[in-house]
Amino acid sequence: MPKPVRTRVKACGLCQVVSTTLFRVVHDAPNQWVLICGACRAKVETQPLYRYGGTWKADKRH
Ligand SMILES: [Zn+2]
Repeated sequence: MPKPVRTRVKACGLCQVVSTTLFRVVHDAPNQWVLICGACRAKVETQPLYRYGGTWKADKRH
C-alpha cells in the first residue's frame, strides 16, 4: 500500500480541477482575487482586468 500523500491541494476557482499549483489572479471583477489553475490562467490573462498576484503551491514541509 502506498502511503497517502500529505499534500494540501486546492481546487481551481473556475474549473474546479484540483491542483497543487494555482495562480492568484483578478480576471473579471476589480480586486476580486481568485485561485485558478494554469489552464484557466491562460484563458483569462488576455482580459483587460487581469492581474497576477502570485503563485500558490501546496508546500511540502521543509
Ligand atoms: Zn481551472
